[in-house]
Amino acid sequence: MFCSKCGTQNLSSSFCTNCGSQLQAVQPPLGTPTLQPMPSSVTQSNTLSVLAIIFGSISFLLFPMLFGSVGLVLAIVAKNKNETKANTAILVSSLGLGLGLIFGAIVGTLAF
Ligand SMILES: [Zn+2]
Repeated sequence: MFCSKCGTQNLSSSFCTNCGSQLQAVQPPLGTPTLQPMPSSVTQSNTLSVLAIIFGSISFLLFPMLFGSVGLVLAIVAKNKNETKANTAILVSSLGLGLGLIFGAIVGTLAF
C-alpha cells in the first residue's frame, strides 16, 4: 500500500507511517501504471519486419529478384506474426521488388 499523499510504502497500517494520512490509494503515486509498456508490446518483436525492410531497401539497388523476394517472404511471415511494422515491410519489399525489376529492366535495356 502506497500513501497517496507522500508516496511512502506502508506494509500493514491503514494510516501512513510517514505523514499520517489515511491510506486508500492502491496505486503508487508516481504514475507507474501509465509508464509501463503495454504487455503486448513487451513481447512484440519487429525483427522480421526490420529485416524485410532492409532486404526491400537493398532490392532497390541490387538483385531485386533475390532481395525483394526474400524481403517479401519475411514481411509476410512478419505479418502472420502480427508484427506492427509488417505492413511497412510488405510495402517496402513489394516496392523494392517491383521498382527494382523495372529499374533493372531499364538499365538492362540501356546497357544492351
Ligand atoms: Zn504519507
